[in-house]
Amino acid sequence: MRKTACELKPDAYRVTHPEYGTVDLVALTDENAVLLACREWHISWGLNACDCRAVKLKKAERGVCRCCGYEAFVNGNGLCNQCAREKEIEKRAYFRQYPVKRERP
Ligand SMILES: [Zn+2]
Repeated sequence: MRKTACELKPDAYRVTHPEYGTVDLVALTDENAVLLACREWHISWGLNACDCRAVKLKKAERGVCRCCGYEAFVNGNGLCNQCAREKEIEKRAYFRQYPVKRERP
């Protein structure tokens, strides 16, 4: 029988894209990590997935996020997905001043 999402153990992944950089997140599979990363970068998964490289860092463990202090699955930087996303948004606000060429999704 197929496992439900709650039964699967998530892992910490680092996803790299040649144009959009690197994002660390917690995901169930490498495909899932790439999908989440594309969502973080607001780019089309269909067009960009093959350029993404997902590397499993370690088994994600329930830990305390070093940013918000809540207990959650944390990524390689010790951040929960939400704080990792907020960091990413800060970074994007910076890049908005110096935009990079972006394909239409
Ligand atoms: Zn957090």
